Order: sequence, then C-alpha cells, then structure tokens
Amino acid sequence: MKDIKNAVIIGFGGMGQQHRHLLEPINNINLIGTYDIESEKMIKGSQYGLKAYESYKDVLEDVNIDLLIIATPNHLHKNIVISGLEAGKHVVCEKPVTLNSNELQEILDVCEVSEGEFFIHQNRRWDEDYLVVKQVADQKMIGDIFHIETKVHGSRGVPGDWRKEKEYGGGMMLDWGVHLIDRLMCLVNEPVKSLFCKLSHIRTNDVDDGFILHLTFDSGITAVVEVGTFNYIQMPLWYVLGSQGAMEIDDWSMAGRMHRFNENNEMDAKPIVAGAGLTKTMAYRDESTLTISEIPRVTVDNNEFYNNVYETMMGNMTQIIKNSEVMYVMKLMEAAMESSRLNQVIYL
Ligand code: NAD
Repeated sequence: MKDIKNAVIIGFGGMGQQHRHLLEPINNINLIGTYDIESEKMIKGSQYGLKAYESYKDVLEDVNIDLLIIATPNHLHKNIVISGLEAGKHVVCEKPVTLNSNELQEILDVCEVSEGEFFIHQNRRWDEDYLVVKQVADQKMIGDIFHIETKVHGSRGVPGDWRKEKEYGGGMMLDWGVHLIDRLMCLVNEPVKSLFCKLSHIRTNDVDDGFILHLTFDSGITAVVEVGTFNYIQMPLWYVLGSQGAMEIDDWSMAGRMHRFNENNEMDAKPIVAGAGLTKTMAYRDESTLTISEIPRVTVDNNEFYNNVYETMMGNMTQIIKNSEVMYVMKLMEAAMESSRLNQVIYL
C-alpha cells in the first residue's frame, strides 16, 4: 500500500477551498486537483498548483487518485459519493451527508461492498466551545449535567445561494442543526426519548430559516437546540446546568463564565425585593456562596480529522465520526421536522 494518498476536491467553492487549507499540514495526503462545474473555481485551484479536471468522469477514471473530498451543494452528495465509492476511491463528504436517512442508507449499502472508506466531515466536533463543554461535563466540573442549551444565532437571514432552496438541500436544520445535534449526541451519549421542534419561516417559505428543538434523553437530561438567522441580539452559544454549578459560553471568542456552588453553604437565602414582590427562592447568589471563574480553555488539534482519514485509509484506525452516529442524527432531524409539521411531541 502506498504511503502518500492523492486527493481531489469536488466542488471548489467556500468549503472546498477550506479543505485545501485543512490539508496543507497533512503531509501524507497530497492534494493534486479539483473538479468544479464553474471553471473560475478551478482557475483558483490552479493558482495553488492543482490540476483542473475536465469532468467528474475523468476524476473517477484517474487511477492515481485515492481520495475524493466532496464539497458540492447538499443535493449532489449522494450520487457523487456513491460513484466515488463504486470507483474504488476513499471518500470524504461534507455535512449534511445527504438530504435524508434513506439517501444515507443507500450510501451505507454501497460502503458494505466497497473497498474505499467513507468519512463525514462533522468538523464542529473540533470547535473549542464544544470541546470545553465536553471536558466540563466529562470531568463533572459543575456536577452532573441535567440541562444543556446549544444555540447559534445570526441576523442576516439564510444566504441567497442554494441554501435557500429545498431541492438543493437548503435550510438551517440541515445546515447548522446537523452540527449542533451531532455534538449534543456526543456530549450526552444516550438515546433521545422524545422531542418537540418548531421550524421558523420568518422570511423564507421553501426552507426553514431557523428552529427551536427541545429534547429529552433517556435519563431525563433535557436540551434545547436553537438556530436563528434573524436574531439581532444573539444568545449564548452554550448554557449548561449541572448539579453543582452552571456555565455559559457567550461566543466563539470563548467569553463566558462558570459558576460553581461552594460546598457547605446553606441553600437557604433571605428574602429580597424582586420587582413588585419578595422572593427568597430566586434570590441572586454572590461570590460568598459561588466560585466564579472564566471558561476553561482546551487545545484543539485541527489536524485530527484528516490524520484520522489518513490512518483509517492505511488500516491503522477506524473513523472518529461513525456512520451510525451520523445516521442517528439524520433520523433525529427527520423526527424534528415531522414534529414541526404535526405540531406534536415525537416519542422515539
Ligand atoms: P459553495 O456554493 O460555496 O460551493 C459549492 C461548489 O460546488 C461551487 O463552487 C459549485 O460551482 C460547485 N458545484 C456545484 N455543482 C457541482 C457539480 N455537479 N460538480 C462539481 N462541483 C459542483 O458552497 P459551500 O458553502 O462551499 O458548501 C459546500 C458544501 O460544504 C455543502 O455541503 C455545505 O453544507 C458544506 N459546508 C460545510 C461547512 C463545515 O463547516 N463543515 C461549512 C460550509 C459549508
């Protein structure tokens, strides 16, 4: 087996070009070319010394190519992935892997008999904000987590390209929901018992321009996943409650705070004036009963995804991002869309 694997990127738009950047430090994967239906995209590739393939057929027939990286609009993923696997190539595909679970199953059926390995680029598992929440949860830094809110908010609507069109696999559930749900599942690591979702169509008819999704896990842990594109005041990326504290991550700069309840402090409080009434239940805490700290930081290995792709192609590892995990997330997204359509809780 040869040590250096040759790769070609299919679809050299925004994310295709990001893959070129991601591959730069990966010594054992040699990016040799691009194929895109827009010639100016391939001209961009040639500025980096990448060969411009004239057709996808030429890519499939090139025996020097080991790995295809698919970064086309979503509706094209399934057929391009399947033909790549059938041609004996390894394939990396962008998220959302397909438009629905049936399409993904078609790919997985081909995977069963193909020689090539299949990878899905759920790259937001390498976002520092997520990795910090995972560390806080795993190390029980705020006790046992019982509620998680994970949100992304923009205020510019859905971009005016294919993401606005249903037939191209547009909409925010498939675009961002797939990331947030994927990470939530890694974090909680137990099945979902029920969910309720409302998709929003504030300025779109065809696709959702956001959603609010409530989930209850087997053990009773609850979560809210929210994506918005008309939020002129953004909410924190993460709001996490544990039995011994809470944490909030405001944004990607990692601003935020962690509050830990000091052991041996009375839970009771004196009544305070709150609006037009009194309350002791809701009396605010201060630093006499809390340890307030900044968000802990973690070092992120931005090369881990492609190193795993390489080592898996070489037979030394298995995929970090499992097909079964991606399928589960796909089915949750389908259940969420069905919940919104029926305006009903879905029990799984
Ligand atoms: P884009 O519109 O910028 O790029 C898509 C490219 O595909 C364009 O250059 C287009 O000409 C090309 N294309 C269209 N049809 C093609 C075909 N038949 N064969 C070859 N090329 C074709 O879109 P984008 O933002 O780069 O998104 C591409 C994919 O990457 C989508 O699946 C998207 O969901 C995903 N994405 C992932 C992330 C992430 O962080 N993982 C971020 C952005 C986009």
